[in-house]
Amino acid sequence: MKILTNCKEVSELLSQAQDRPLGLGEKFGLNLHLMMCNGCRNFGKQLDFIRAAMKRYLERGVSGR
Ligand SMILES: [Zn+2]
Repeated sequence: MKILTNCKEVSELLSQAQDRPLGLGEKFGLNLHLMMCNGCRNFGKQLDFIRAAMKRYLERGVSGR
């Protein structure tokens, strides 16, 4: 199994996680890296925030007034 230590790979994986389910090994490596790396943790939070905001926006758009 591959352990992610490279922030670039981690940020790519975080972006991909928005579009596809991650494998067990990928999730594990990702979480391990996020535990150690503040920068990627913040990046992940930002992605979550953007996704949540986008979801709210889309849901509002669909359900309408
Ligand atoms: Zn990192």
